[in-house]
Amino acid sequence: MKAMPDLSSSNSPSPTGPSALNLIGAAPPPGGWRVRLLDLSVRDPDFRAALLDAVGRVLDHGRFILGPEHDEFERAVADWCGRKWCVGVGSGTDALYLALRALDLGPGDEVITTPLTWVATTNAIVLTGATPVFADVDSDFNIDPGRIEALIGPRTRAIVPVHFTGRMCDMAAIAAIARDNGLRLVEDAAQSFGAEYRGKPAGGFGDVACFSMNPMKVFNAFGEAGAVVTDDEALRDRLASLRYAGTINKEDCHWPSINGRLDTVQAAMMLVNLPRVRDRIAARQRVAARYTAALGNVVGCPRAKDGFRHSWYSYTIVAERRDALKAFLAEKGVETKIQHPLLTPHHAAYRGKFTVDIPNAEHLVRRILCLPLHEDLGDDDIAYVADCVRAFYEGDRP
Ligand SMILES: *Cc1c(COP(=O)(O)O)cnc(C)c1O
Repeated sequence: MKAMPDLSSSNSPSPTGPSALNLIGAAPPPGGWRVRLLDLSVRDPDFRAALLDAVGRVLDHGRFILGPEHDEFERAVADWCGRKWCVGVGSGTDALYLALRALDLGPGDEVITTPLTWVATTNAIVLTGATPVFADVDSDFNIDPGRIEALIGPRTRAIVPVHFTGRMCDMAAIAAIARDNGLRLVEDAAQSFGAEYRGKPAGGFGDVACFSMNPMKVFNAFGEAGAVVTDDEALRDRLASLRYAGTINKEDCHWPSINGRLDTVQAAMMLVNLPRVRDRIAARQRVAARYTAALGNVVGCPRAKDGFRHSWYSYTIVAERRDALKAFLAEKGVETKIQHPLLTPHHAAYRGKFTVDIPNAEHLVRRILCLPLHEDLGDDDIAYVADCVRAFYEGDRP
């Protein structure tokens, strides 16, 4: 690890945690340390110019919805996932909702999913009229395949696993359960574009897989965007209809639905972004490896299992006294985030509505914390963050 910054000589207020910070190394940068959780601005001049060119081409042809770049984007995402079809949509939420609608899920149906995810996963199920059933998670944050079968009943129609933080679920086990029980499998791959499981990309499993290209995601748009992939042409056609008011030939509505189409401008910009995804993941992987080397014996660090490729959507640790750690890091200029602080059945909309037995999720949700993770994070920044985390826990020792 590189030389560590000297906090004791900085003029920041004394920490609430440990009294003796014994950090050695470089002086803090002018203005003090400030390590941001993420950085979404576009500063690389070549990348910026290519994006602006792409926007200019769309302004020139004027086909702002379902234009040529949109079709090209669908082809590129389908190819990336090894799928026959991709349907571009307005967001990851649209992707999930429309995928479940295309599978004809509705009132009376039950869908097994994870409680540890962004609430959009559960919202999509509920908006179709179906009922979510929550299976507990494993220590990797993902739905525990061993907990799914006990929840399957006569009304169960589908399983929606989420590859949380960008680390994939045990898809062999989950796909086997779906197959043996005649259930539909819908991947919520919103956080995992670019991840792999045994050589197969996220989005390559199940009947359909859903992506979000929200600006925070690793393969991002510059606004809202999403996509659904599938090998089933009938499903593809159904999705294309459902994303535009449930119409056929854009006129006659067969199934009441939303307008969930993807802007050509976003598709054109994402086509410029797509070739960068592998390098971005590699850069994030390097940050993650440094954190894990420095913190592996201090907090619970995410580890990529054999045969898995993490997309590093977030670097999420499992930390005791998490809230105090978060406050301490904030005071030291280190921005962190709890993603997500509420399990989905605990949101106001859902509280008390479902019977849940999810002790692992309840244990983890009180301890998870995302450390700063973006490609421009310098070695000094990483060392500083790791140092601050160590300093917090050193105060615990007598
Ligand atoms: C981001 C996200 C979504 C929703 O995507 P939007 O594009 O924000 O609508 C759904 N599920 C998960 C797991 C997500 O992280």
